[in-house]
Amino acid sequence: MESVIEIQHLSKSFGNHEVLTDIDFSVQKGEVVCVIGSSGSGKSTLLRCINLLEKPSGGKIIYRGENILDDRHDIHSYRKKLGMVFQQFNLFNNHNVLNNCVVGQVKVLKRSKEEAEKTALKYLKVVGMDQYVNAKPKQLSGGQKQRVAIARALSMEPDVMLFDEPTSALDPEMVGEVLKVMKELAGTGLTMLIVTHEMEFAKEVSDRVVFMDKGVIAEEGAPEQIFNNPKEERTKEFLKRTL
Ligand code: ADP
Ligand code: MG
Repeated sequence: MESVIEIQHLSKSFGNHEVLTDIDFSVQKGEVVCVIGSSGSGKSTLLRCINLLEKPSGGKIIYRGENILDDRHDIHSYRKKLGMVFQQFNLFNNHNVLNNCVVGQVKVLKRSKEEAEKTALKYLKVVGMDQYVNAKPKQLSGGQKQRVAIARALSMEPDVMLFDEPTSALDPEMVGEVLKVMKELAGTGLTMLIVTHEMEFAKEVSDRVVFMDKGVIAEEGAPEQIFNNPKEERTKEFLKRTL
């Protein structure tokens, strides 16, 4: 198996408060990994460290054989390879749907506008939003906005997609359409690291589930094992509370 990202002994503190402690894990090419755990357990911080929105306090993030936390490493080329989808869509409200998916390609990847539009349309089709290319974000429902945000990230053709609770800000009736798109993506061989509260979804789509508790990985394993036969007491407690 080929690791896309390998994390070794990663730690992160805010002041005196250590929120990630000695995190070791990796994501293999084509793998779908779901991260679950209580609020405050460090899930978002872990994703934010992986895409360098936060500077880790210690440890290594190895991408294609190189520690990207080495000073001499080119973090820009690394970050281009990560797609990120947030809870709060973060669309550009003054741009239409198509442009939302074009801007990054032109600015960061230096693609021509024509090529970028073609790529954007391809991924807007994947998420079922190609009929809305001229719409502005404010004209869309939350579920539609999130699907555009996914298409925008996919348009950058990243090596790995990171999702941080992509359905948590949605009205319940819109959760399904976003999970459906993510499920379809999971079936295409895309490498995905997903923080989610949707346990049924995690059970169904993930190759591996990582349970975080108080800044450490308390347990990880196949979804059947984690959900049906958890080893750790704190995993059992968490699942009892959420299922
Ligand atoms: P989760 O995503 O699992 O809910 P977070 O990663 O958001 O957890 O937070 C983990 C811990 O780190 C929490 O105690 C939170 O208050 C703290 N934390 C997160 N971001 C910051 C920050 N920018 N400054 C200080 N503390 C933070
Ligand atoms: Mg979070």
